[in-house]
Amino acid sequence: MRIFRRQKSVYVLSLFLCLVGLAALLTTVWKTWPQISSAKDPFSTFLALLWTEKLDFIPNIEFKLVYLVVLGDAMLISGVGAYILSVQRVYLPGKIVWYRCPFCHKDWRSTGDKALVHCPHCRQLVHPIMIEK
Ligand SMILES: [Zn+2]
Repeated sequence: MRIFRRQKSVYVLSLFLCLVGLAALLTTVWKTWPQISSAKDPFSTFLALLWTEKLDFIPNIEFKLVYLVVLGDAMLISGVGAYILSVQRVYLPGKIVWYRCPFCHKDWRSTGDKALVHCPHCRQLVHPIMIEK
């Protein structure tokens, strides 16, 4: 249950990162849109604006628009990555089953469907026997 809660917080974090990243990119478009929409070459105008436009929400710090784009991209990418990780961890492992080693006859718990594993007790490579508990 504790593990699940951690995955849930990763999930929330990933959504948060995606939202902040998107907001950063939207802010960039919103800041440059008046100049881009009237420019002949929107793409190069946009690239030029990234280095010349500054944001003034942090006093005394020169925060160029390009930083916002890089930050937004990084957040979006790590947000999507964290989201994929959290979803995989929640849904992929499936059922937890008990295995018994055919050599030392000790049991251990693991996630389902393992054909060939190293026994955690005697370190032998074994075909574990699935048991009910
Ligand atoms: Zn063993």
